[in-house]
Amino acid sequence: MSKILNRYLVQFKGLAVGQHVFSYDVDKALFDEFEASDITDGSLSVEVILNKLSNMLELDVYIEGDVEVKCDRCLEPFTIPTQFEGKLIVRISDSVDESENDNDEILYVSSNEHEISLGQYIYESICLSIPIQRYHGMLGTSTDDCDSEMLTHLNMLAPNDEEKEEPDTDSRWDKLKDLMNNKN
Ligand SMILES: [Zn+2]
Repeated sequence: MSKILNRYLVQFKGLAVGQHVFSYDVDKALFDEFEASDITDGSLSVEVILNKLSNMLELDVYIEGDVEVKCDRCLEPFTIPTQFEGKLIVRISDSVDESENDNDEILYVSSNEHEISLGQYIYESICLSIPIQRYHGMLGTSTDDCDSEMLTHLNMLAPNDEEKEEPDTDSRWDKLKDLMNNKN
C-alpha cells in the first residue's frame, strides 16, 4: 500500500467498544494517487466518528473543503467548495453476505485483520460530492474568470450547421468561369 493511503488507516483491533473520533487531512497527494482523477488538487478535512461494536464498525464520515477541477467551458483549473456526509459499515466477518456484496457502503474484513484503510473510500466520496458539470460562475466562483480567449477559440472549433450544407453550384458554369479567367 502506498504511503499516501497509509495516512488513512484505522487500527480497529485495539479499540474499545464504543465511540472514537478520527481526523484526517486531504491534499494534492491523495488525488495524485489516482491517475484518472478529475480533481487535480484540494484541501479538505475529514472527520470520522467510529462506533465499534463486537463484530462491526459504524463510521460516520464528514468531509469538507475545496477542490481544484477543470472548467468545462474554458478548460482552466479553478477551485470549488465541496462537502460530503456518508456512512460506512465495516463487518468483521470471515463470511460475506452475498446480498450485501454489491453495496458500496458495506465493507468486509476478515476476523484476523486489525486495520482498514479509508483512503480509497475518502477519495471516492470526494469525487461523488462534486457536481458532474463544473464551470466558472458556479458555487460562488466568478464567470469573469472564464478564459474568454479560450472560449472564442472553442466556439470557432464548434461545428457550424450553416456551413455544413454543400453550396449549390453548377459545374458547367465553373468551367466557363475558368475559361474566361484563363483568357485574361
Ligand atoms: Zn471557465
